[in-house]
Amino acid sequence: MQYKLHNHNHNHNQTYKGLIIEPKIRDFFIGRIWIRTNAPFPQEKIETYIKYNYFKRILGISSKRGFFKKHYTCNRCYNENQSEFIHYECARCNQLCTYCRHCINMGRVTSCTDLLIWNGAKPKFPTYHILDWDGTFTEAQAQASQQLTDSIQQNHNHLIHAVCGAGKTEILFPAVLAALQQGKRVCLATPRTDVVLELFPRFQKVFPNTILHAYYGNAPQQQGLPQLIIATTHQLYRFENAFDVVIVDEADAFPYTFDKALQKAVFKVKKQSAPLALVTATPSPQILAKVKREKWGYSFIPKRYHGHPLPVPTFESLWSYNKMIAKGKIPSKLIQWTKMRIAQKEPFLIFFPTIQLMGIATPLFQQLHEDILSVHAEDVDRKEKVTKLRNEEIPGLLTTTILERGITIKNVQVAVVGAESKIFTSSALIQISGRVGRNVNYPAGEIVFYHHGITTEMDEARNEILRLNKEGFGK
Ligand SMILES: [Zn+2]
Repeated sequence: MQYKLHNHNHNHNQTYKGLIIEPKIRDFFIGRIWIRTNAPFPQEKIETYIKYNYFKRILGISSKRGFFKKHYTCNRCYNENQSEFIHYECARCNQLCTYCRHCINMGRVTSCTDLLIWNGAKPKFPTYHILDWDGTFTEAQAQASQQLTDSIQQNHNHLIHAVCGAGKTEILFPAVLAALQQGKRVCLATPRTDVVLELFPRFQKVFPNTILHAYYGNAPQQQGLPQLIIATTHQLYRFENAFDVVIVDEADAFPYTFDKALQKAVFKVKKQSAPLALVTATPSPQILAKVKREKWGYSFIPKRYHGHPLPVPTFESLWSYNKMIAKGKIPSKLIQWTKMRIAQKEPFLIFFPTIQLMGIATPLFQQLHEDILSVHAEDVDRKEKVTKLRNEEIPGLLTTTILERGITIKNVQVAVVGAESKIFTSSALIQISGRVGRNVNYPAGEIVFYHHGITTEMDEARNEILRLNKEGFGK
């Protein structure tokens, strides 16, 4: 497989000395690979910079002659799945062009698109960073944090396997600080926008001297040259050879097994010898095998930071809930559960397998309490609704799996409706259960799987939680 599609010849001698570089243009492009016509700057300026060799240009899609037909590669996302290349009559070139469907959400890359890579001088990153955090580590956290820092210092890949609520984010702080203080550029990537939105203010707070940006769909434009980037994994398509350290948080949600292009994206955004660290509560067998085979560093934290065991899910049958809800009735068990939460003023999350079912159920739940809201992936008010729940302005939130991870709400109680549905894999169910009991003052809580028949995924999730509790408390 060919990963290196173009080499980076920085030929500074050829750059025109008379052109005064605008820092904001330079800062925007450093580390990026960007569609020429989509640059957030006037096109004439871009043309001038190109003329004076401040950009390296690459064709969007390249093709090789294969045995029977051409073989296409997207030079932005490195997709090589031939079924994702679409041929079309191009109005601009008046001929048959090809675009990549795989990374289309990030803007269309075509065979007649120019991709720009910064070819001018790059300023050095500062080293004056501080960590403004006065929390303390448990013994297990301290050990994992030290191991991660050591691995990164030695350019060694590392896996942190930590149960939900082990305080994973804090574990990253010392390792990130050490890298920043060496003038390294660090990327923290995660598959979920919600996790980016949750992590960004936390890092902003503890790294007050660091320029950091958050990148996700429709993120606002941010100023300066960021040394620390917190981004969704999809945004990584827009970077190349950019980072000295890459950390993927919630790596299990990262579809390692079926999305090869995303996996390639992680490798293309880091510099060749830069270390990769994965952080997850539920590592897939593929990740564990890779760690073993390639001798990665490994830390395991079986206990939550507050030392209490993980809440164990209970199973409750909810026969034909689908039909009942479709008929405009919430099953009585679920009504009782919800009324109990409202009466005891406990914030709650109820997970649904589909947006459709949740849509029908929402007005029914609003008859129990008019302030109950629902949230899903495309909901633009998602952030505000979660904040409302956290601030106790609403009693509860109905949700799709979008909130399965990264969300911490004090004393939250959780129900899963239709836990037997395909979308609720064992790792999704473990993550959902992990929302409960994260706060030291409320270390326990309800996690109920309402089902129309118990699945092996449900059993696996519960067994894994029991196993982790035994590992954490057995000794
Ligand atoms: Zn692509």
